[in-house]
Amino acid sequence: MKQSLIGQSVFGREHVDVKMLKMYVNGEWVDSISGKTITVINPSTGDEIAKVPMGNKEDIDHAVRSARMAFESEGWLQNFRPHERGYVLLEVAAKIREIKDELAQLEAIDVGKPLSQAYVDVEAAARYFEYYSGMADKILGETIPIEYGIIDYTVREPIGVTAHIIPWNYPIQIISRSVAAAIATGNACVVKPAEDTPLTALKLAEIFSETKLPKGILNIITGYGYEAGAALCKHHDINHITFTVSVATGMTVMKAAAENIVPVTLELGGKSPNIVFSDCDEEAAIEWVVKSIIQNAGQTCSAGSRLLVEASVKDQFVAKVARRMKELKVGPGVADPDIGPILSQKQFERIESFIETAKAEGITILTGGTAVEIEGCEGGWYFAPTVLDHIDPDCKLAQEEIFGPVLSVFSFETEEEALELANNTEYGLVTGIWTNDVKRAHRLANKVRSGQVFINNYGAGGGIQMPFGGYKKSGFGREKGLEALRNYTQLKNVALRYDK
Ligand code: NAD
Repeated sequence: MKQSLIGQSVFGREHVDVKMLKMYVNGEWVDSISGKTITVINPSTGDEIAKVPMGNKEDIDHAVRSARMAFESEGWLQNFRPHERGYVLLEVAAKIREIKDELAQLEAIDVGKPLSQAYVDVEAAARYFEYYSGMADKILGETIPIEYGIIDYTVREPIGVTAHIIPWNYPIQIISRSVAAAIATGNACVVKPAEDTPLTALKLAEIFSETKLPKGILNIITGYGYEAGAALCKHHDINHITFTVSVATGMTVMKAAAENIVPVTLELGGKSPNIVFSDCDEEAAIEWVVKSIIQNAGQTCSAGSRLLVEASVKDQFVAKVARRMKELKVGPGVADPDIGPILSQKQFERIESFIETAKAEGITILTGGTAVEIEGCEGGWYFAPTVLDHIDPDCKLAQEEIFGPVLSVFSFETEEEALELANNTEYGLVTGIWTNDVKRAHRLANKVRSGQVFINNYGAGGGIQMPFGGYKKSGFGREKGLEALRNYTQLKNVALRYDK
């Protein structure tokens, strides 16, 4: 069954057609048990674009029971062979590509991200399903030598019912990366998309509904974090939680998981540095310093939000970065500008409050620092690309995740100083190093405390295959790549005596 999520009318401001959507439980499209709904807003315009069910504890319970029944049923692990799981995921990847225009438009409208970035997200989603489809029948165990007469082997089994809490900044990518790995390894999933951006998750459910995946293996409950999200994390019958959120929410979730002794994979935020040395390829470094902070209007956990530049080239380098930032085009997501709107008034006000602090502390605003008015989109929340200089490395602005197009500049004299600055936050997600001195690059890569290091690039094209996750308060556990398969499997050891 399909539920139409999008029509041309959604794009035109004068003819906004609010869609009434349902969520997906046990292979059925359902309303919330309470009948309540959440209104979804287009951040580019402030217009209402859809209403989705406001799922609560009861809906979560329904979804978890459905997932449990599906997981335990003979129709899943006994009769649905591993390579058949792979076929389903391949089919999903193909369908994502078939309707990529619709998905990209939907993501651009729902998140406000520039259309070309939404296309990149949709392609990444397809790639996750392809990548993990190939792994479905390659989850191998080992034989372990014990002694004559005993054969000992390990089996990697699915962990059971997996909970997935999705953030609002990269909905289709983040849901795809964890759901693809969980289903490839034989789990049943309950997904709670962010209340602000649930649309592509529901579209993905529609895609799955047209495959042979048994009912109940994928369930999507829309609802608020404090209600549906919290109920899912506290549910006694889930076996794993995958979470991409803020540090504060991450702590709440870990406490809930502790009550049921449930493992968690936590991807929290970052305050990631680009470290620029005087001997680097300046043009490439400028391009990526700018890209890494403006992507999705800076609302990216791995955003390069700190720029550390060698003092001898700082002024000229930063002037060029600031000029480039100033020239960027800000506008509504579907118009494919360089920078789209901020997701919501709440996020917008958060960015504004950081800028107020900057002003109060006498920090230099090289460019930006203000709201932007876009004609015809007065209800949207736009913020100018901003570069801040002369910042105390220990102050709030240097330490906390702003989650907006705001770049903070620092300078260093020596490699040791660069390292100290790079490691001087509670986060540790990504580090960019720009230098042509390969020995120095490796020395720093060895000493920085972050889960990913990019030398003379930033992001390496998305990195479906690369393990991704944090050091320190950026979280723990790794998503993406083969490493993610460990999250969704548990190891059983079997010892069999065949002779005395
Ligand atoms: P949040 O952490 O509150 O929400 C993100 C997701 O968690 C949503 O799906 C939400 O419904 C869910 N959630 C919220 N409270 C929950 C709870 N108690 N139990 C279970 N699920 C819950 O983030 P926010 O308020 O939307 O954004 C605040 C800040 O978080 C941002 O400014 C940014 O710094 C950070 N953030 C980081 C990422 C990331 O990619 N690491 C993503 C989103 C937000």
